[in-house]
Amino acid sequence: MLRPVANLGYLQVVRHCNHVCGFCSNPTTPYSHTLESMKALVDDFVDRDYFGIILTGGEPTLHPQLPEVTAYARSRGLHVRMITNGHRLAERRFADAMAEAGLQLVHVSVYSVDPEVEAELRGTEGTLERAFAAIENALAVGLEVNINCVINRLNAATLDRNVKVLTERFPALRHFVWNNLDPSMGRAEVNQARFTPRLADFEVSLHRAMRHLHKTGRTFRVEKVPLCYMADFAWASTETRKIVKGEERIVYFLDAKQGVRQTEWGHLYAEGCDRCTVREICGGLFDRGNGYDPAELAPLFVDRDAVVRSILADPSDPARERLTMDQWRQAHAARVARAKDEARATRDPKALPVVGQLTDQGLRRFEARRRSESRRTAERELNMERLAEQLPGDES
Ligand code: SF4
Repeated sequence: MLRPVANLGYLQVVRHCNHVCGFCSNPTTPYSHTLESMKALVDDFVDRDYFGIILTGGEPTLHPQLPEVTAYARSRGLHVRMITNGHRLAERRFADAMAEAGLQLVHVSVYSVDPEVEAELRGTEGTLERAFAAIENALAVGLEVNINCVINRLNAATLDRNVKVLTERFPALRHFVWNNLDPSMGRAEVNQARFTPRLADFEVSLHRAMRHLHKTGRTFRVEKVPLCYMADFAWASTETRKIVKGEERIVYFLDAKQGVRQTEWGHLYAEGCDRCTVREICGGLFDRGNGYDPAELAPLFVDRDAVVRSILADPSDPARERLTMDQWRQAHAARVARAKDEARATRDPKALPVVGQLTDQGLRRFEARRRSESRRTAERELNMERLAEQLPGDES
């Protein structure tokens, strides 16, 4: 039986940030975490036999006890990773502290190697040089470094250039992660027209970027991109890998959504998908937020089992299991049936622990941060996010 041994849990440790990206899907909220409330969620991942934890935000390095929660997660046996904009990691002392605490892998977000485009996407000047300094520091203190990139309208045509510049400057980079923009939440939802790409906008540059990484022996993952836009790299689709391996994901959102457990990876399928040979292992079109157009999908007629085999045999994957295709088919069918039952069960919010706390101080800080962010977004003619998810009871 296929054993999902590499589940990764996401823990949002803060929800504020020192950048004001116009497509941020997880902007500031009044919720906060103490070390104890973070430890409780680390314990929950350990109890669920998760492989690792990803510390995220907001900008996670803004939590004063990030080294402590990192050390605690390591002491409990989790593989500890962090997603950061690199602003604080650009300070060598902070990089040393995180390495000493036990951080193993850092995802530094770089959206564009053009400083002006990066500044526009970040809503903040001077971010690219700091991200480069963060990569340099992280490598120097012995962390594994991955590059994260949100695909959006402004960088869609230059994904290949980004990869080439980054790998030339930092040959030790071995892994890239692209997330197509999620237009359903936060500031991304209210600035859709400015940042949401069409799939065709990035098709060529994404393919060139993947080809370059593959040719140079590097690895990569791509999320929220349907397989008909992945060319011959279907095995690198995050959704497809999770479907094939039966992985789940829990995100502990530091907002009114709280904990969300995801066991199903299919989004929206168009009519043509019914004829597509990879339909069963494809995540389809990310439809939340209505940012993407089903008319852009086109059925594939490729060997589905070849994609499955290349995922099962991937030597870089800690969850790799050697299964025959018959064994995989049986395990996959059983998982699909089980996932339907579990999805029903997890609609009960009591199944997951409470995330963070709402305090008077947290509410006051939230109001002050929101005023400051409103000024910064107004300067760049960006809309501020609705409060519905950020502040319980406020539907504005
Ligand atoms: S046509 Fe549909 S099922 Fe096939 S690859 Fe595209 S989105 Fe996936």
